[in-house]
Amino acid sequence: MLEFQPLAIDGLARRARLTLRRGVVDTPQFMPVGTYGSVKGVLPAALEQMGAQIILGNTFHLWLRPGLDVIRAFDGLHRFEGWRRPILTDSGGFQVWSLGAMRTIGEEGVHFASPVNGDRLFLTPEVSMQIQTVLDSDIVMQFDECTPYETAGRVTREDEARSSMELSLRWAQRCRAEFERLANPNALFGIVQGGMYEPLREESLARLAEMDLPGYAIGGVSVGEPKDDMRRIVAHTPRRLPAHKPRYLMGVGTPEDLVDGVAHGVDLFDCVMPTRNARNGHLFTRFGDLRLRNARYKADTRPPDESCACHTCAHFSRAYLHHLDRCGEMLAPMLASLHNLHYYLNLMREMRSAIEQQRFATWRAQFEADRSRGV
Ligand SMILES: [Zn+2]
Repeated sequence: MLEFQPLAIDGLARRARLTLRRGVVDTPQFMPVGTYGSVKGVLPAALEQMGAQIILGNTFHLWLRPGLDVIRAFDGLHRFEGWRRPILTDSGGFQVWSLGAMRTIGEEGVHFASPVNGDRLFLTPEVSMQIQTVLDSDIVMQFDECTPYETAGRVTREDEARSSMELSLRWAQRCRAEFERLANPNALFGIVQGGMYEPLREESLARLAEMDLPGYAIGGVSVGEPKDDMRRIVAHTPRRLPAHKPRYLMGVGTPEDLVDGVAHGVDLFDCVMPTRNARNGHLFTRFGDLRLRNARYKADTRPPDESCACHTCAHFSRAYLHHLDRCGEMLAPMLASLHNLHYYLNLMREMRSAIEQQRFATWRAQFEADRSRGV
């Protein structure tokens, strides 16, 4: 179940409404990451209140813990984690790939040792579809091989990126067959691979487009490549994907990356950055990034971001957050995560409104000027 209704276009930037089984997602949209079934340190009610419309879950981690028997007892991930709105689950491909030496990739799938208890496990396109069907996520991602930027200490060659991309295409076919066999009522997205090579990206997306899946992702970016390479792929691939289907840029990124992605026609983003950076005292604000641990904030009575309407900025000062962080209080990462997620969601809201009003380029120039002003 998926409907994608374009509402406005400004250059390549798109404003649309994505309807999934459990609700509507206004795009462009950012999806907070809930790796283990929780967006770290943030209540689901707080996420709803700040306007989050869809969150992520991790197939790999939830498969290992709590395991599928527990999720089945709740008829899926939504009731287990107390989140009523849409959920997207990744396929587990990226996590097994990240295990490095602990895994072996073959045509059938990936053998690996569980990082939890050392059990030998085998993740295949079929198993990934079976797990995601139990999770009952609204968007299911195909199982793919994330082509690394570097292989054995050097940049991945084109022939290596090609065989990896072709493996992902064969896995996409197997995913669809299993997804259909399971009669999964949700939406399956394909993932474009091809490394840093435009011709491979074009071949990957053309062959995925032939499969006529309800949505497409751009994978294999933000995997350690230089920023210029990421920007080059983001400028190349999204605009070539089918115009009437949602486009998702996986694992990206900074506020500037999100704006650049939207400018090139991306609709959906996810990234751990707002929550992970919050836990390290790194706040994103309209006027640049703020490092809470800096001694200059010790007695700063201003809110983290004077232009922000979040709960943290409405009630607390930089000095208080600095103090909580120094004392190791758990409220520090909670308040920081609340602000950072609010900042990201509000950034998307501003972009949607700019596209609707056909002033995205003007808005972007102001965004860049503000961000470089300094806090
Ligand atoms: Zn705030």
